[in-house]
Amino acid sequence: MDDKRLKGPNTKIIHAGQHPDAETGAVSVPIYQSSTFAFESAEHGAACFRGEPGYKYTRLANPTTEALERSVAFLEGAAGGLGAATGMAAINSVYMTLLGAGKHVVATDAMYGPSRTILETEFSRFGVEADFVDSSDSDNVARAMRPDTALVYIETPANPTLKLTDIETCAEIAHAHGAVLAADNTFASPYLQNPIALGADIVVHSMTKYINGHSDVVAGMIVASDEEMLERLRKVHVNLGGTMDPHQAWLVLRGIKTLGLRVEKAQANAMQLARYLEAHPAVDWVRYPGLESHPQHELALRQMRGAGGIVSFGVVGGVEGGRRLIDAAELMVRAVSLGGVETLIEHPASMTHKGVPADERLEAGITDDLVRVAVGCEDAEDLLADLEQALEQAAAGVTVGV
Ligand SMILES: *Cc1c(COP(=O)(O)O)cnc(C)c1O
Repeated sequence: MDDKRLKGPNTKIIHAGQHPDAETGAVSVPIYQSSTFAFESAEHGAACFRGEPGYKYTRLANPTTEALERSVAFLEGAAGGLGAATGMAAINSVYMTLLGAGKHVVATDAMYGPSRTILETEFSRFGVEADFVDSSDSDNVARAMRPDTALVYIETPANPTLKLTDIETCAEIAHAHGAVLAADNTFASPYLQNPIALGADIVVHSMTKYINGHSDVVAGMIVASDEEMLERLRKVHVNLGGTMDPHQAWLVLRGIKTLGLRVEKAQANAMQLARYLEAHPAVDWVRYPGLESHPQHELALRQMRGAGGIVSFGVVGGVEGGRRLIDAAELMVRAVSLGGVETLIEHPASMTHKGVPADERLEAGITDDLVRVAVGCEDAEDLLADLEQALEQAAAGVTVGV
């Protein structure tokens, strides 16, 4: 069936880009595990290198990877996609395409750590200037724009503060200044949010997270709103070399088919957990875009189709309380990453951000008591029971509820 006729979200996820193999009828897209492709003749080879259809070399294009590129591009309403070895490979290709000496980038302050660090410590070596702003207030983005701003780079929801950025307003600001808007859509996944429909030019994903969904692959994707931008990105991406391996692409093609089912289950669980946590005496605050108490709940309703599966909260007892809580978790797995079927729990102050100076951590909104749960697809009652016993242990020795 023609992709354009696919209607519902799960139908699209299951079928877009993934068609039965024309030659054999194989329902699962075959893994074209070949680095290179034979030409029928010298003339055929020349034609392929002139840009006529035909595969040449897997770093440039591969049929398995292309199926995944078509799938994600379709789900994002994009002109096309470029598979990447990891989310960071995708992000670096976007930076490399748009930035250079004398160019300026405005980015979300609390974005994924390495996405920020690479701008601060490496791109700065090549004369790129960056300003990191709290983009949950679009005025901060507008104020940071300069005549040499080439890129506005946002992440929404952002990690792990779950602050949202207004995509539509940021697109207007970027375009008014002749800049490009790129959005990291990893947290929401294409099932819940489509930045291109709101004006973004480029969307990146760490497919390691929701799109693959099984904690067994690292992978990334770039999609672009139009052909011209896609070709600009492609030129840089295939020469930088962070492209995707066909076996990796096949695993993600397998994972993506259940994206809708997984996200629905995870966010239903997340909502239950968030409400439970809000009422718990050993919890000082809860941040979840699906709660009315989220400062940007209205924006969540406007630009997302659901609030997603990540919940952050503050546990009593500060760093020690957080450490006790995650040490007590039995079902929830102590691990970084997110978007897998298994629920993961992370305490930045004693794990990922232990080495970050306290003032920097606090400025990014990562308080000592912040615990992040990347909610998976288990049964909610079991997750609640695990949280209950872990919170009890976290609160041991702390006076709560006063
Ligand atoms: C994990 C993640 C990345 C990086 O992806 P990798 O696949 O680990 O390279 C980028 N952005 C966000 C929001 C992430 O969660």
